[in-house]
Amino acid sequence: LSTRLQNVFGKLKGRGKVSEDDVNEAMREVRLALLEADVNFKVVKDFIAKVKERAIGQEVVKSFTPGMVIIDIVNKELTELMGGEQAKLAKSNKPPTVILMAGLQGAGKTTLTGKLAKMLQTQKHKPLLVAGDIYRPAAIKQLEVLGGQIGVPVFTLGDQVSPVEIAKQGVKRAKDEGYDYVLIDTAGRLQIDEELMQEIKDIHSAVEPDEVLLVVDAMTGQEAVNVAKSFHEQLALTGVVLTKLDGDTRGGAALSVKAVTGCPIKFASTGEKIDQLEAFHPDRMASRILGMGDMLSLIEKAQSNIDADKAKELERKMRTAEFSFYDFLEQMEQVRNMGPLEQLLDMMPGMGKLKSNPNFKIDEKQIKRTEAVAKSMTHAEKLKPDIINFSRRKRIAAGSGTTVADVNRLLKQFEDMKKMMKQFSGMMGPNGKPKGGM
Ligand code: GDP
Ligand code: MG
Repeated sequence: LSTRLQNVFGKLKGRGKVSEDDVNEAMREVRLALLEADVNFKVVKDFIAKVKERAIGQEVVKSFTPGMVIIDIVNKELTELMGGEQAKLAKSNKPPTVILMAGLQGAGKTTLTGKLAKMLQTQKHKPLLVAGDIYRPAAIKQLEVLGGQIGVPVFTLGDQVSPVEIAKQGVKRAKDEGYDYVLIDTAGRLQIDEELMQEIKDIHSAVEPDEVLLVVDAMTGQEAVNVAKSFHEQLALTGVVLTKLDGDTRGGAALSVKAVTGCPIKFASTGEKIDQLEAFHPDRMASRILGMGDMLSLIEKAQSNIDADKAKELERKMRTAEFSFYDFLEQMEQVRNMGPLEQLLDMMPGMGKLKSNPNFKIDEKQIKRTEAVAKSMTHAEKLKPDIINFSRRKRIAAGSGTTVADVNRLLKQFEDMKKMMKQFSGMMGPNGKPKGGM
């Protein structure tokens, strides 16, 4: 799939503005990527519409292709949709902070309760766990084992007292004994049912939690939307925790759940071990959902490696016809530093066009030969290729282990490149910004 998105890069290039066709083509792939990641159909539709609106007509700045501009927008919008900034856990200014866990059976509530306690503990807080699941066999025991592992006490009244009462008394105990966080574990069912909802609603009104965390199994994909919807309608959630992100899910549930509830995703659980809990990072999840981590780093590379000053200087030289083989070599060097040539040439100003020139085949061997030829030129020849007559050509060919035909080809390429870059720079205003129309 990532290859499919890669193609978007390849196909769309060398045009000054992002056109509607560019966007439509790219969005077809993005749409598939999102659906494959199990993002809800309606969420995908809204998202695509929003990105289209933003992308069409965008300027394609130097060293970007329209495909890159679009992916960049897609990534930013996705990140934004999932909350943008990383969301923190609530903290009551009247301790204890009460946190209520909600979610289906097996989602990972009890595990999360232990993990969160451990995290709070390392932040020098003093948490108390409350065993509010009296239905699942050994649920209390499970919490006690977790508490024992990290040395955090577990409040329980056994399985004969109602969870509402247990929660109430648990919070009271925390207040009395100076705990600053109370984490209430609750029972889940295999499916949402009235009884379960009523019980957790009763707990909610009895303890008035500062934070209601919906625990969602990221592997459940589409189903996560319905779960999140019904819980949110009944409980006014304040945050979401995605679990089992260590699996091979692409995490589309994250996007859907955030879109449906409007609640920030606060944590990501990535394993069964007690310390496998992380703050949720919307930007990382965005690239996971799109499966395009590589591409994003490619965009970053293009931004950082092509030094802005150098690019400007190059432009100035082209305008004043000072462009020499030194610049040519330097540009090659920069490209080489960035990685595989095929993809990277598209990012270089002017190079993308060269690629479609039949005289300029992208083939690593030939690039090496080209470089060898350029390096065999004397200082004077590099600065003023015009002086390279036939005998100089013979000497350069011999010096670089190539043929006169190779030297001729490079000189022709150099001239082509210069011409094309002149055209290119002719379209740019003096400040390096495109003149109108581009
Ligand atoms: P609950 O019914 O909501 O309380 O769910 P549990 O906390 O009992 O978890 C159900 C199962 O999922 C257990 O076997 C956990 O070890 C496992 N589990 C919980 N969180 C994660 C996670 O982030 N990754 C993985 N791989 N397993 C998890
Ligand atoms: Mg449980």
